[in-house]
Amino acid sequence: MCDSRCGEEDATQDCAVSTADSLISLPFATIDIEDVCEVTDVPQINSKRREEKDSIKNKQVKKKKTKHKNYQPNYFLSIPITSKKITGGIKTLQSAIIQQDERLAKAMVGDGSFHLTLLVMQLLSEDEVNIGVDALSQLKPSVEDVLQGRRLTLPFQGTDTFGNQVGFVKLADGDHIPPLLEIAEIAKRTFQEKGVLAGETRSYKPHLTFMKLSKAPWLRKHGVKKIDPKWYEKFSNHRFGEETLYRIDLCSMEKKKQSNGYYHCESSIVVGDKNGGEPDDAELVRLSKRLVESAVLKAVQQYLEETQSKKQPGDGSSGKAEEADRSGSDVGNNRK
Ligand code: C5P
Repeated sequence: MCDSRCGEEDATQDCAVSTADSLISLPFATIDIEDVCEVTDVPQINSKRREEKDSIKNKQVKKKKTKHKNYQPNYFLSIPITSKKITGGIKTLQSAIIQQDERLAKAMVGDGSFHLTLLVMQLLSEDEVNIGVDALSQLKPSVEDVLQGRRLTLPFQGTDTFGNQVGFVKLADGDHIPPLLEIAEIAKRTFQEKGVLAGETRSYKPHLTFMKLSKAPWLRKHGVKKIDPKWYEKFSNHRFGEETLYRIDLCSMEKKKQSNGYYHCESSIVVGDKNGGEPDDAELVRLSKRLVESAVLKAVQQYLEETQSKKQPGDGSSGKAEEADRSGSDVGNNRK
């Protein structure tokens, strides 16, 4: 994982590379650079200075390692799961579990929070959040490049767990996997290039979490240490439904959730076409407005043409017609 804060490290590496390149043309180019730097008979004062330098360098490395060791994601990119079929199916699965042990209700992901995580990251200040918001808007054209005008439909089928601690619905196999992984990879790169600590060491595994024991740590003391897939075995191969990629949100893991149960969002991008070309209600209103405007415009133009043709040339009417035409085109421009 690299960020702009590692710029120093990169610069050192670049410097080493260019030094190595320039050394290739020298007679001792075949000698290992380490050997060249390994000076043995140096005066005491040099050796002391070197020790001091090494100690400063070690401290810096240690500091850098600590910074990365403390990497605790607190933000994530979320694809919201809104399909009624999927959320309904998950709620049925959750109810089946709770019926067997009602204490498990506390471990369930709440209605409204269902999502597919695309990327996790750490944003520690308002400035870093702003950088994250910028990175997300920069991501939009890249995602559209991957989609090439196609819809990305994500089918969910079957269940699995992460170490019996997190229960999730699986993303089915299929052609949607490569573009989704590509989008996740581009997202990681986009955020990292902006200096954000983002991503994980484990490989990206798309999953739709329905429960996690960490939501109710006290369950452990009461003997519930593992999720038992038998609780919901009839869903082990269940087809939960499909979600179309439409929106990507930059969400906080820690801030208070919205009243609808979904995470606090700093920013969102809309990508793709949720209904696959079929207009929604708002789009239908816009379309009908456009139709009315264009019909009125046509009628005005026709009226002007008719009145103009009845008048004699040179009576000053053509200027008015032009004006009306111009105002007509303004109506057209307003449509955009
Ligand atoms: O992304 P989501 O919030 O659904 O993740 C739920 C939990 O699954 C998180 O606690 C995360 O650490 C865990 N997880 C995991 N292994 C992965 C991905 C996520 O244990 N590969």
